[in-house]
Amino acid sequence: MIVIDGSRGEGGGQILRSSLALSMVTGKPFRIEKIRAGRKTPGLLRQHLTSVRAAAAVSGATVTGDELGSQRLEFTPGAIKAGAYHFAVGTAGSAMLVFQTVFPALMLADGPSEATFEGGTHNPMAPPFEFLERTFLPLVARIGAKASVELTRPGFFPAGGGSFTARVEPFGKRKKPLELDERGKIQHRNVTALISHLPDAVGKRELETVAKKLSWAEEDFRIRRDDRSVGPGNALMIEVGSENVTEVFTGFGDRNVRSEAVAEAALAEAKAYLAAEVAVGEHLADQLLIPMALGAGGRFTTLPPSRHTETNIETIRTFLDVDIQCEKVEGRVWRVTVTPR
Ligand code: AMP
Repeated sequence: MIVIDGSRGEGGGQILRSSLALSMVTGKPFRIEKIRAGRKTPGLLRQHLTSVRAAAAVSGATVTGDELGSQRLEFTPGAIKAGAYHFAVGTAGSAMLVFQTVFPALMLADGPSEATFEGGTHNPMAPPFEFLERTFLPLVARIGAKASVELTRPGFFPAGGGSFTARVEPFGKRKKPLELDERGKIQHRNVTALISHLPDAVGKRELETVAKKLSWAEEDFRIRRDDRSVGPGNALMIEVGSENVTEVFTGFGDRNVRSEAVAEAALAEAKAYLAAEVAVGEHLADQLLIPMALGAGGRFTTLPPSRHTETNIETIRTFLDVDIQCEKVEGRVWRVTVTPR
């Protein structure tokens, strides 16, 4: 049995989610110890537990240690089943990360699936819905697995209650390598302040903060009001659409954070990406690795690898026979190459 040290490297929820995803697709059982050991609230939170249960449902797994707060889990997968699923976090924990857990298995299932995810859709330290829709899934489609997502209502901390549906078509006969050496010319760009049950002024201040730093056209800035959410919430998203990839950089609203600071967080990521002329931003880099390793591999240019990326590479190597290389090209430009063996 594969044994994973959950406190290794980045030491967060990703080691658990990636292990679940890779165990499901390889059929290899694993045990993970010291789950999120270094975090303020160690062990499985509701969001992680939902990922474990979701992975078990999709792969008919037997599981021990699947309790709130548990720091040790054993997971023995069965066969992956395509079908209709419903996964609810039950708190404002990220539903997007539950998607991240089961998506690789659904990509390799023997038929299409439709799954509804409930929880947070715009959480700090997790991909927001628009990142999935506009950045991640179009690239996955290019390597051969088509998926679409539809937002029913956004969900924010602390009320939660967000919901989205994903339809996943597994890999067809041909898996294609992802070749993303350059992002290409910028073709569109926009800045969107998502506002739910909050005054427009919050979004206006965010847009103004970004407008001062990026001399983009006035029509590129907009407020998107979506009051379908259960509670209040806000996210500021900067989208850079180039020939070969669309990136979304996000600042997450928080009662204790000023609008200007929310905008600055997104700005810092967008500026780092624009300045380095790479194809793939920091978060996309760690998230592309599993689909590429399960597909036909490929390569992309990106910023210096984050700890999430480094840790994810280690987890992938534990389960799969794949060569993953990160090399510095120049300055802040790196190249990641994924070669399944
Ligand atoms: P962890 O911190 O281990 O739970 O993993 C968080 C995951 O969310 C990683 O895959 C990150 O790349 C991803 N992530 C965090 N922040 C963002 C963001 N602003 N946009 C897209 N993905 C994100």
